Amino acid sequence: FAVRYDRFKDESGQDIGIIMILQDITERQKLENMQMDFVANVSHELKTPLTTIKSYTETLLSGDVEDKELTRNFLSIVDAEADRMNRLVKDLLQLSRLDYKQEKWYKKDSNLISLLKSAVTKVELTAKNKNQHLNCIFDDSQRIMVVIDKDGIEQVLLNILSNAIKYTQEGGRIDIDAFRVGKYARIIIADNGIGIPEKELSRVFERFFRVDRARSRAMGGTGLGLSISKQIVEDHNGNIELESKEGKGTKVTISLPLAPIRGRQNIE
Ligand code: ADP
Repeated sequence: FAVRYDRFKDESGQDIGIIMILQDITERQKLENMQMDFVANVSHELKTPLTTIKSYTETLLSGDVEDKELTRNFLSIVDAEADRMNRLVKDLLQLSRLDYKQEKWYKKDSNLISLLKSAVTKVELTAKNKNQHLNCIFDDSQRIMVVIDKDGIEQVLLNILSNAIKYTQEGGRIDIDAFRVGKYARIIIADNGIGIPEKELSRVFERFFRVDRARSRAMGGTGLGLSISKQIVEDHNGNIELESKEGKGTKVTISLPLAPIRGRQNIE
């Protein structure tokens, strides 16, 4: 609580009373704490790759490394860390555009099934490299029309699919389904991977939250993917939910409003 006093005086200047204002600043305090945490997180995330870059360039500049192979090795690490910073800054800029409602959406009637199919195709190779099976349950001849910015929703699908692949062991399986429920299109992406401990589950949509920072980092993650995805889906009046059991797997459900019926497209 913030406390403020004011004195009441009569005409002669004599105190006749005190007014005390108690203001609940919990919300404000929470917001300030969140902002401070965010800045600390951003700084930390940028500092880590910078430290690596600096140590490798210093070593190279010292002239002590003569081996060509080793030099190349060092340079590729520098390159990867620079890529990482790039991804981070890109994600941060997008988050800021989303926060300020400045992201431009070009929403059009689109068939969610073909978008989902093309997203699955884009991650197929990554899954194959881990011997994982992408199990498409949906009927790919049907059309489920939604009003969406295709790039935006594709980004969400790719993010959720990549997470499923990243956080699932070699040989794992990812079930992908899409269907209509009332006035909504629903997409389900369920993996049988490492899952998320119950106590961490409520935090996964927070910015920079990762169950295992080192693991996510090693996989190239920024810890911003799910929070960006959530904002994009919400900007489409949709909803994204995540259920998970540690050691069993994770299920992500995305719901998007169906396009209003124009002709027969959404009732076939
Ligand atoms: P990251 O870039 O770290 O993948 P995200 O915002 O996409 O960031 O996800 C946040 C965290 O949620 C991840 O670091 C991971 O710990 C957890 N997570 C997300 N998807 C899955 C999944 N399918 N299985 C297990 N854990 C997941």
